[in-house]
Amino acid sequence: MDYDVIVVGGGPTGLAFARSLAGSGLRLAVVERQALDALADPAPDGREIALTHRSVGILGDLGAWARLDPADIAPLREARVLNGSSRFALTFGGTGSGGDRLGQLVSNHRIRRALFQAAEGQNGLTLLAGQTVTDVRTDRDRAVVRLSDGRSLTARLLVASDSRLSEVRDRLGIGASINRLGQSMMVCRVAHDGEHGGVATEWFEHGHTIAMLPLNGRMSSAVLTLPSAAMRQIAGLDPEALGAEITRRYRGRLGAMRPVEEPRVYPLVTTYANHFAATRAALIGDTAVGMHPVTAHGFNFGLQGQATLARLVREAAAKGRDIAAPLLLRRYEMTHRLATRPLYTATALLVGLYTNDRPPMALARHAALRAAAHLPLVRSTVTRMLMQH
Ligand SMILES: Cc1cc2nc3c(=O)[nH]c(=O)nc-3n(C[C@H](O)[C@H](O)[C@H](O)COP(=O)(O)OP(=O)(O)OC[C@H]3O[C@@H](n4cnc5c(N)ncnc54)[C@H](O)[C@@H]3O)c2cc1C
Repeated sequence: MDYDVIVVGGGPTGLAFARSLAGSGLRLAVVERQALDALADPAPDGREIALTHRSVGILGDLGAWARLDPADIAPLREARVLNGSSRFALTFGGTGSGGDRLGQLVSNHRIRRALFQAAEGQNGLTLLAGQTVTDVRTDRDRAVVRLSDGRSLTARLLVASDSRLSEVRDRLGIGASINRLGQSMMVCRVAHDGEHGGVATEWFEHGHTIAMLPLNGRMSSAVLTLPSAAMRQIAGLDPEALGAEITRRYRGRLGAMRPVEEPRVYPLVTTYANHFAATRAALIGDTAVGMHPVTAHGFNFGLQGQATLARLVREAAAKGRDIAAPLLLRRYEMTHRLATRPLYTATALLVGLYTNDRPPMALARHAALRAAAHLPLVRSTVTRMLMQH
């Protein structure tokens, strides 16, 4: 074998997995389509990732958290969900500073850079950047991966981490439920005069959803969700007009808003793989579970899943057992399915409830918010889930 493990995709989850196997004695390769420069110093992509406490712990263990500049970490103290013009807000968290924060917000490109720095030079790890995987085959004995330069590499375990519309998943013959929602999400950093107090808001309005994620200083990440056709018009506005549009849609709650970065638009597609494992292969990150960003759990689940798989692989390697044994892969699949399916399903229901503006639905969501507010168990469960110690 050329390697013990080949990871396809050097995104944040693929890199985290490679890092999780540091010191295991396994020979690893990470194959990534992007050039080395883009991995080492990723460009901003507008995503602000809300990390749970558990994710912060994992990033700490991987040696990535300490590489972040504290000025680039924004505390998330409270989250409020609002519906239309109602003054009522469903609130999660909200107790203040320190360990009782809901979580932390960090830009995606900074997380990726920190993970790259942590993994760079790791013993036994080969980074094959600027290479696309064009084919994969697996059988009882090995996985064979073909690269765009014509080389074929072999390994005992293939790990696919090549995004939610994964080609490797297709080539492994694993199906997935893929939902193209016909909506797009625009993310844009904005400066404003008002104080956000570390409070994130998710506001479901007639015809759109707007969220405001609190960054350090008088700055927020505006996250606007609209049908894709309507989004094209807004994304093309000049910065002044875009600022006015966001201010209007947020009803001036934080004063006038000015974009400080290029807006980025993501068409919304959610995916859930039918299986997370096949012969000598496993799926991690968005390739296994492509969450809707509204519940901010895609990368949190990615970190959790890669940690589960890495633990099982390390244990098997330490005992001299097969690191891709069918039972091991089944255990990974079961554990990660149990961890992700409930929130994936709940998020789909939430999105259905909040993207349908017919009057009965608008009333239903108002009732649902009020009901949730009066059910302390629901609130404490959701808060615990969001915080995930
Ligand atoms: C607007 C937005 C906001 C979000 N907010 C949050 C949040 O608050 N909290 C949260 O937890 N998550 C959030 N997410 C989700 C999070 O960004 C993703 O879950 C995460 O980036 C997925 O990482 P990944 O490594 O699995 O996949 P990706 O980042 O998609 O990486 C896949 C990698 O594989 C490479 N690749 C693909 N095909 C090949 C191939 N054939 N050969 C070689 N390389 C290949 C690609 O170049 C890429 O680098 C958000 C997402 C969006 C869009």
